[in-house]
Amino acid sequence: VDARLDGRAVAESVRAATRQAVESFTQDADPPALAVVLVGDHPASASYVRGKKKAAAEVGIESTVHRRADGISQHELLELIGTLNADATVDGILVQLPLPDHIDQHAVIEAIDPAKDVDGFHPQNLGRLLIGMPQFTPATPSGIMVLLRRALDDLSGKRAVVVGRSNIVGKPLAALLMQRDANATVTVCHSRTRDLAAHTRAADIVVAAVGQPKLITADMVREGVTVIDVGINRVDDDARERGYRLVGDVDYDAIAPKAHAITPVPGGVGPMTIAMLLRNTLQAAQQRRA
Ligand code: NAD
Repeated sequence: VDARLDGRAVAESVRAATRQAVESFTQDADPPALAVVLVGDHPASASYVRGKKKAAAEVGIESTVHRRADGISQHELLELIGTLNADATVDGILVQLPLPDHIDQHAVIEAIDPAKDVDGFHPQNLGRLLIGMPQFTPATPSGIMVLLRRALDDLSGKRAVVVGRSNIVGKPLAALLMQRDANATVTVCHSRTRDLAAHTRAADIVVAAVGQPKLITADMVREGVTVIDVGINRVDDDARERGYRLVGDVDYDAIAPKAHAITPVPGGVGPMTIAMLLRNTLQAAQQRRA
Protein backbone atom coordinates (compact mmCIF):
# COMPACT_ATOMS: atom_id res chain seq x y z
CA VAL A 1 0.00 0.00 0.00
CA ASP A 2 1.08 3.53 -0.77
CA ALA A 3 1.31 5.72 2.30
CA ARG A 4 1.61 8.91 0.30
CA LEU A 5 -1.00 11.46 1.37
CA ASP A 6 -1.47 13.60 -1.71
CA GLY A 7 -2.06 17.19 -0.62
CA ARG A 8 -2.38 18.37 -4.20
CA ALA A 9 -5.33 16.07 -4.85
CA VAL A 10 -7.10 16.90 -1.58
CA ALA A 11 -6.48 20.61 -2.13
CA GLU A 12 -7.95 20.34 -5.62
CA SER A 13 -11.17 18.91 -4.20
CA VAL A 14 -11.34 21.67 -1.56
CA ARG A 15 -10.78 24.30 -4.28
CA ALA A 16 -13.44 22.72 -6.49
CA ALA A 17 -15.98 23.01 -3.67
CA THR A 18 -14.95 26.63 -3.09
CA ARG A 19 -15.19 27.37 -6.82
CA GLN A 20 -18.78 26.09 -6.84
CA ALA A 21 -19.70 28.06 -3.74
CA VAL A 22 -18.15 31.22 -5.21
CA GLU A 23 -20.14 30.65 -8.37
CA SER A 24 -23.42 30.56 -6.49
CA PHE A 25 -22.35 33.51 -4.30
CA THR A 26 -21.68 35.64 -7.37
CA GLN A 27 -25.15 35.04 -8.81
CA ASP A 28 -26.27 38.12 -6.94
CA ALA A 29 -23.09 39.64 -5.53
CA ASP A 30 -19.66 40.85 -6.58
CA PRO A 31 -16.91 38.24 -6.32
CA PRO A 32 -15.13 37.87 -2.97
CA ALA A 33 -12.20 40.29 -2.89
CA LEU A 34 -8.86 39.59 -1.23
CA ALA A 35 -6.27 42.30 -0.54
CA VAL A 36 -2.73 41.00 -0.19
CA VAL A 37 -0.05 43.21 1.36
CA LEU A 38 3.50 42.35 0.32
CA VAL A 39 6.37 44.31 1.86
CA GLY A 40 9.94 44.13 0.54
CA ASP A 41 11.41 41.63 -1.85
CA HIS A 42 11.75 38.43 0.14
CA PRO A 43 11.96 35.94 -2.78
CA ALA A 44 9.91 33.18 -1.12
CA SER A 45 7.19 35.68 -0.09
CA ALA A 46 6.86 36.99 -3.63
CA SER A 47 6.44 33.46 -4.93
CA TYR A 48 3.84 32.58 -2.24
CA VAL A 49 1.88 35.70 -3.16
CA ARG A 50 1.96 34.79 -6.87
CA GLY A 51 0.69 31.32 -5.96
CA LYS A 52 -2.16 32.72 -3.85
CA LYS A 53 -3.18 35.20 -6.55
CA LYS A 54 -3.28 32.54 -9.24
CA ALA A 55 -5.22 30.10 -7.06
CA ALA A 56 -7.70 32.83 -6.11
CA ALA A 57 -8.35 33.67 -9.75
CA GLU A 58 -9.00 30.01 -10.52
CA VAL A 59 -11.87 29.82 -8.02
CA GLY A 60 -13.32 33.21 -8.97
CA ILE A 61 -11.91 35.26 -6.09
CA GLU A 62 -10.54 38.67 -6.98
CA SER A 63 -7.21 39.62 -5.48
CA THR A 64 -5.20 42.81 -5.42
CA VAL A 65 -1.57 42.86 -4.34
CA HIS A 66 -0.48 46.00 -2.48
CA ARG A 67 3.25 45.95 -2.92
CA ARG A 68 5.34 48.22 -0.71
CA ALA A 69 9.09 48.82 -0.53
CA ASP A 70 11.17 47.35 2.28
CA GLY A 71 11.66 50.85 3.67
CA ILE A 72 7.97 51.50 4.37
CA SER A 73 7.48 52.80 7.91
CA GLN A 74 5.28 51.00 10.41
CA HIS A 75 3.04 54.06 10.46
CA GLU A 76 2.57 53.95 6.68
CA LEU A 77 1.85 50.24 6.78
CA LEU A 78 -0.74 50.72 9.53
CA GLU A 79 -2.33 53.44 7.41
CA LEU A 80 -2.59 51.04 4.48
CA ILE A 81 -4.27 48.46 6.74
CA GLY A 82 -6.67 51.15 7.94
CA THR A 83 -7.58 52.02 4.37
CA LEU A 84 -8.24 48.37 3.52
CA ASN A 85 -10.29 47.92 6.71
CA ALA A 86 -12.47 50.88 5.73
CA ASP A 87 -12.83 49.80 2.09
CA ALA A 88 -16.24 48.14 1.78
CA THR A 89 -15.17 46.36 -1.42
CA VAL A 90 -12.42 44.45 0.43
CA ASP A 91 -13.56 41.19 2.07
CA GLY A 92 -10.27 39.70 3.19
CA ILE A 93 -6.89 41.18 4.15
CA LEU A 94 -3.71 39.16 4.21
CA VAL A 95 -0.31 40.54 5.19
CA GLN A 96 2.39 38.26 3.82
CA LEU A 97 4.92 37.43 6.55
CA PRO A 98 7.71 37.90 7.45
CA LEU A 99 7.79 41.69 7.68
CA PRO A 100 11.07 43.65 7.77
CA ASP A 101 12.74 43.82 11.19
CA HIS A 102 11.89 47.48 11.82
CA ILE A 103 8.16 46.69 11.76
CA ASP A 104 6.33 45.20 14.73
CA GLN A 105 4.52 42.22 13.22
CA HIS A 106 2.09 41.95 16.15
CA ALA A 107 1.02 45.58 15.79
CA VAL A 108 0.29 45.08 12.11
CA ILE A 109 -1.71 41.88 12.65
CA GLU A 110 -3.71 43.51 15.46
CA ALA A 111 -4.59 46.41 13.16
CA ILE A 112 -6.45 44.13 10.74
CA ASP A 113 -10.24 44.13 11.13
CA PRO A 114 -10.91 40.65 12.67
CA ALA A 115 -13.87 40.27 10.28
CA LYS A 116 -11.42 40.53 7.35
CA ASP A 117 -8.58 38.54 8.94
CA VAL A 118 -8.60 35.58 6.54
CA ASP A 119 -5.22 34.36 7.83
CA GLY A 120 -6.77 34.01 11.29
CA PHE A 121 -3.70 35.48 13.02
CA HIS A 122 -5.49 38.32 14.84
CA PRO A 123 -5.52 37.71 18.63
CA GLN A 124 -9.34 37.76 18.59
CA ASN A 125 -9.46 34.98 16.02
CA LEU A 126 -6.75 32.92 17.73
CA GLY A 127 -8.56 33.41 21.05
CA ARG A 128 -11.86 32.31 19.55
CA LEU A 129 -10.16 29.20 18.17
CA LEU A 130 -8.75 28.39 21.61
CA ILE A 131 -12.18 28.51 23.28
CA GLY A 132 -13.79 26.42 20.55
CA MET A 133 -15.69 29.27 18.84
CA PRO A 134 -13.61 29.69 15.70
CA GLN A 135 -14.24 32.52 13.25
CA PHE A 136 -11.24 32.32 10.90
CA THR A 137 -8.94 29.37 11.46
CA PRO A 138 -5.34 29.77 10.26
CA ALA A 139 -4.98 28.08 6.90
CA THR A 140 -2.03 25.76 7.50
CA PRO A 141 -3.40 24.10 10.65
CA SER A 142 -6.91 23.76 9.20
CA GLY A 143 -5.43 22.22 6.05
CA ILE A 144 -3.51 19.77 8.23
CA MET A 145 -6.77 18.78 9.98
CA VAL A 146 -8.39 18.07 6.60
CA LEU A 147 -5.43 15.85 5.65
CA LEU A 148 -5.54 14.01 9.00
CA ARG A 149 -9.26 13.34 8.64
CA ARG A 150 -8.60 11.88 5.17
CA ALA A 151 -5.85 9.65 6.56
CA LEU A 152 -7.57 8.47 9.74
CA ASP A 153 -11.19 7.49 10.43
CA ASP A 154 -11.10 8.82 13.94
CA LEU A 155 -8.66 11.09 15.73
CA SER A 156 -10.27 10.48 19.12
CA GLY A 157 -7.75 9.41 21.75
CA LYS A 158 -4.89 9.38 19.23
CA ARG A 159 -1.52 10.51 20.54
CA ALA A 160 -0.52 13.51 18.43
CA VAL A 161 2.91 15.10 18.72
CA VAL A 162 3.24 18.57 17.21
CA VAL A 163 6.87 19.60 16.72
CA GLY A 164 7.10 23.41 16.60
CA ARG A 165 5.23 26.02 18.65
CA SER A 166 4.74 28.94 16.27
CA ASN A 167 1.64 31.12 16.46
CA ILE A 168 0.80 30.33 12.84
CA VAL A 169 1.18 26.53 12.86
CA GLY A 170 2.11 24.69 16.05
CA LYS A 171 -0.07 26.48 18.63
CA PRO A 172 -3.30 26.71 16.60
CA LEU A 173 -2.86 23.12 15.39
CA ALA A 174 -2.52 21.92 18.99
CA ALA A 175 -5.79 23.76 19.78
CA LEU A 176 -7.58 22.13 16.83
CA LEU A 177 -6.32 18.64 17.70
CA MET A 178 -7.53 18.88 21.29
CA GLN A 179 -10.90 20.40 20.34
CA ARG A 180 -13.96 18.36 21.28
CA ASP A 181 -14.63 17.43 17.67
CA ALA A 182 -11.15 15.91 17.28
CA ASN A 183 -10.26 14.67 20.78
CA ALA A 184 -6.60 13.83 20.18
CA THR A 185 -4.17 13.76 23.09
CA VAL A 186 -1.68 16.47 22.21
CA THR A 187 1.98 16.97 23.04
CA VAL A 188 3.77 20.06 21.76
CA CYS A 189 7.54 19.78 21.33
CA HIS A 190 9.94 22.64 20.52
CA SER A 191 13.56 23.72 20.52
CA ARG A 192 13.97 23.14 24.27
CA THR A 193 12.30 19.73 24.33
CA ARG A 194 14.48 17.05 25.87
CA ASP A 195 14.59 13.72 24.01
CA LEU A 196 12.32 14.61 21.09
CA ALA A 197 12.57 11.03 19.80
CA ALA A 198 11.00 9.63 22.97
CA HIS A 199 7.94 11.77 22.29
CA THR A 200 7.66 11.10 18.57
CA ARG A 201 8.18 7.35 19.04
CA ALA A 202 5.13 7.17 21.26
CA ALA A 203 2.95 9.06 18.77
CA ASP A 204 0.21 7.89 16.42
CA ILE A 205 0.44 11.25 14.62
CA VAL A 206 3.58 13.33 14.15
CA VAL A 207 3.39 16.83 12.70
CA ALA A 208 6.73 18.49 11.98
CA ALA A 209 6.67 22.30 11.68
CA VAL A 210 10.23 23.36 12.40
CA GLY A 211 12.22 24.22 9.29
CA GLN A 212 15.04 21.70 9.56
CA PRO A 213 15.64 19.04 6.88
CA LYS A 214 15.52 15.44 8.15
CA LEU A 215 14.78 16.45 11.73
CA ILE A 216 12.40 13.47 11.87
CA THR A 217 14.16 10.22 10.94
CA ALA A 218 12.85 6.67 10.60
CA ASP A 219 14.13 5.58 14.02
CA MET A 220 12.03 8.34 15.64
CA VAL A 221 8.62 7.01 14.59
CA ARG A 222 6.66 3.85 15.18
CA GLU A 223 5.24 1.44 12.61
CA GLY A 224 1.86 2.69 11.33
CA VAL A 225 2.46 6.34 12.18
CA THR A 226 0.74 9.18 10.31
CA VAL A 227 3.20 11.96 9.48
CA ILE A 228 2.42 15.50 8.35
CA ASP A 229 5.47 17.39 7.09
CA VAL A 230 4.94 21.15 7.26
CA GLY A 231 8.55 22.21 6.77
CA ILE A 232 9.67 24.04 3.66
CA ASN A 233 13.45 24.12 3.33
CA ARG A 234 15.63 25.09 0.41
CA VAL A 235 18.62 22.82 -0.08
CA ASP A 236 21.31 23.42 -2.70
CA ASP A 237 20.89 21.28 -5.79
CA ASP A 238 23.09 21.98 -8.79
CA ALA A 239 21.06 19.56 -10.89
CA ARG A 240 18.12 21.99 -10.71
CA GLU A 241 18.02 25.00 -12.95
CA ARG A 242 17.20 27.31 -10.03
CA GLY A 243 20.05 25.83 -7.97
CA TYR A 244 17.96 24.44 -5.11
CA ARG A 245 15.11 22.09 -4.32
CA LEU A 246 12.50 22.11 -1.59
CA VAL A 247 12.49 19.51 1.17
CA GLY A 248 10.46 19.16 4.37
CA ASP A 249 11.47 18.38 7.96
CA VAL A 250 10.95 14.65 7.56
CA ASP A 251 13.08 11.90 6.01
CA TYR A 252 10.25 10.89 3.66
CA ASP A 253 11.94 8.03 1.82
CA ALA A 254 13.01 6.28 5.01
CA ILE A 255 9.71 6.76 6.85
CA ALA A 256 7.20 6.07 4.05
CA PRO A 257 7.67 2.26 4.16
CA LYS A 258 6.66 2.11 7.84
CA ALA A 259 4.01 4.87 7.80
CA HIS A 260 0.24 4.53 7.57
CA ALA A 261 0.21 7.91 5.80
CA ILE A 262 2.77 10.63 5.11
CA THR A 263 2.68 13.93 3.23
CA PRO A 264 5.37 14.75 0.66
CA VAL A 265 7.15 18.10 0.25
CA PRO A 266 6.30 19.64 -2.11
CA GLY A 267 2.72 18.52 -2.73
CA GLY A 268 1.52 18.02 0.84
CA VAL A 269 0.62 20.78 3.27
CA GLY A 270 1.55 23.67 0.95
CA PRO A 271 -1.35 23.29 -1.51
CA MET A 272 -3.75 22.75 1.41
CA THR A 273 -2.72 26.05 2.96
CA ILE A 274 -3.69 27.94 -0.18
CA ALA A 275 -6.96 26.04 -0.55
CA MET A 276 -7.99 26.84 3.04
CA LEU A 277 -7.08 30.51 2.59
CA LEU A 278 -9.47 30.70 -0.38
CA ARG A 279 -12.18 29.06 1.69
CA ASN A 280 -11.64 31.63 4.45
CA THR A 281 -11.89 34.45 1.92
CA LEU A 282 -15.22 33.18 0.62
CA GLN A 283 -16.41 32.85 4.23
CA ALA A 284 -15.39 36.47 4.91
CA ALA A 285 -17.41 37.66 1.92
CA GLN A 286 -20.43 35.58 2.94
CA GLN A 287 -20.37 36.84 6.51
CA ARG A 288 -19.66 40.50 5.72
CA ARG A 289 -22.34 40.73 3.09
CA ALA A 290 -25.00 38.66 4.81
P1 NAD B 1 8.98 29.03 13.12
O1 NAD B 1 9.95 29.07 12.00
O2 NAD B 1 8.40 30.29 13.64
O3 NAD B 1 9.60 28.29 14.38
C1 NAD B 1 10.22 27.02 14.33
C2 NAD B 1 9.74 26.18 15.50
O4 NAD B 1 10.53 25.00 15.56
C3 NAD B 1 9.88 26.86 16.86
O5 NAD B 1 8.66 26.75 17.55
C4 NAD B 1 10.98 26.07 17.57
O6 NAD B 1 10.76 25.94 18.96
C5 NAD B 1 10.92 24.73 16.88
N1 NAD B 1 12.24 24.08 16.83
C6 NAD B 1 13.41 24.60 16.40
N2 NAD B 1 14.39 23.69 16.48
C7 NAD B 1 13.83 22.57 16.96
C8 NAD B 1 14.33 21.27 17.28
N3 NAD B 1 15.61 20.96 17.09
N4 NAD B 1 13.47 20.36 17.78
C9 NAD B 1 12.16 20.66 17.96
N5 NAD B 1 11.63 21.86 17.67
C10 NAD B 1 12.46 22.81 17.19
O7 NAD B 1 7.79 28.00 12.74
P2 NAD B 1 6.74 28.08 11.55
O8 NAD B 1 6.53 29.47 11.11
O9 NAD B 1 5.60 27.26 12.02
O10 NAD B 1 7.48 27.34 10.36
C11 NAD B 1 7.99 26.03 10.49
C12 NAD B 1 8.27 25.43 9.13
O11 NAD B 1 7.05 25.26 8.43
C13 NAD B 1 9.15 26.33 8.21
O12 NAD B 1 9.96 25.48 7.42
C14 NAD B 1 8.12 27.03 7.35
O13 NAD B 1 8.67 27.39 6.10
C15 NAD B 1 7.08 25.95 7.19
N6 NAD B 1 5.72 26.43 6.92
C16 NAD B 1 5.05 25.84 5.90
C17 NAD B 1 3.76 26.22 5.60
C18 NAD B 1 3.03 25.54 4.49
O14 NAD B 1 2.03 26.03 4.01
N7 NAD B 1 3.47 24.38 4.05
C19 NAD B 1 3.13 27.22 6.35
C20 NAD B 1 3.83 27.80 7.42
C21 NAD B 1 5.12 27.38 7.69
